[in-house]
Amino acid sequence: MICNNLSVTPDGRLLFAGRDLRDLADQYGTALYVMDEDRIRLMCRTYQKAMKEAFGENALPLYASKACSFKQIYRIMKEEKMGIDVVSPGEIYTAKEAGFDLSLAYYHSNNKSDEDIRFAMECGVGYFVVDNEEEVYAVSRIAWEMGLNQKVLLRITPGIDPHTYEEVATGKVDSKFGSAIETGQAMEITKKTLALQNVTLAGFHCHVGSQVFDSDVFIRSARVMVEFIAEVRKETGYLPFELDLGGGYGVRYVETDPVYSIEESILEVGRELKEMCRLYDLPLPQIHMEPGRSIVADAGLTLYTVGTVKRIPGYKNYVSVNGGMSDNPRFALYGSQYTVVLPEKMKEDCDFPCSVVGRCCESGDILQENVQLPASVTRGDLLAVLTTGAYNYSMASHYNRVLKLPVIMLAAGKDYVAVRRETFEDLTACDL
Ligand SMILES: *Cc1c(COP(=O)(O)O)cnc(C)c1O
Repeated sequence: MICNNLSVTPDGRLLFAGRDLRDLADQYGTALYVMDEDRIRLMCRTYQKAMKEAFGENALPLYASKACSFKQIYRIMKEEKMGIDVVSPGEIYTAKEAGFDLSLAYYHSNNKSDEDIRFAMECGVGYFVVDNEEEVYAVSRIAWEMGLNQKVLLRITPGIDPHTYEEVATGKVDSKFGSAIETGQAMEITKKTLALQNVTLAGFHCHVGSQVFDSDVFIRSARVMVEFIAEVRKETGYLPFELDLGGGYGVRYVETDPVYSIEESILEVGRELKEMCRLYDLPLPQIHMEPGRSIVADAGLTLYTVGTVKRIPGYKNYVSVNGGMSDNPRFALYGSQYTVVLPEKMKEDCDFPCSVVGRCCESGDILQENVQLPASVTRGDLLAVLTTGAYNYSMASHYNRVLKLPVIMLAAGKDYVAVRRETFEDLTACDL
């Protein structure tokens, strides 16, 4: 199976974190997100260990919480001694409510309003990752008004295109995020920040890849960043305390996705980075990485019940489930691949080609195309979409006034509700 928290019993039943999914469906109803807490913790520990080995004891992984954000996730991150990356006042509020120490929070976003900035400062967010010049002035002004000093990192665009795997000098310079080295704006914002009151420049940040399966993107951005830091030292004498290499390690959604080791990749990045720092005679800064997807994606699956099975002779077949783009918009948004199975029919031949679709009134409400399921698929069967722990719950909507799904956590053989199922009252709670 695509992840080792999945297995199949001799009589063809799928187990997730050792649990039979029918039991969970009977207890909690479908549709349902199921998450494997032990797997989330294992991934946190994998990053902690590998990063300390690669970059030294003060290295810190920051969980990019936009991948999956609710109170219990932040409690787990607190217990695992992770930092977090947050991108909105809503995420900051949720982390705060969960008792997360916000001095370990890094606040991203390309467009923070004055209210957002003030709110984050009032909550005691440790670091702002500043996107652009306008923002650093706003942060400085509001920090002065509030009588505090705000630590900031500058988001630098290193000019790397992660998709072509080629250094394209202009590639990604036109990104919505960050200040580009190539245009001179990165150096400019660095100098301006160093001269500003009420902000302390803690270091630099970059984030270029996503669904990355090797060390390449990280090594290339580390190189560009070290060269930039050397340039900054030459021009200003400033040395950063922190360097954040961003997130992006990939997960296996389908069997054809590559198998690789995050630990080995991080060790490789560590060797390269140390070599680069030696070459430029720079002290190794404190290193951060910001994994989101790779912490939570394969710790999750979505469990549905099959409804209508429609066969259109000579054309195609549809298998409909009691959820869809409202709980997983990723296929509709960018054609994301997923593995779809019938958890109680794992030993049956899969020779029924179909599209697995949702319940929303929208032709684009498709969970996956070109799926092969057992031909016996019928109303009432359980259907699971695997690897939905990242960017599913966090991207869910109320389209068609469909209720958002609950999140059931599995930990050490037990199960508990982390996010309860919504009610119709929740749905109209804001309607006047
Ligand atoms: C989205 C994001 C991440 C996490 O990326 P993953 O691909 O989920 O690991 C990290 N850092 C920043 C700045 C991001 O925007």
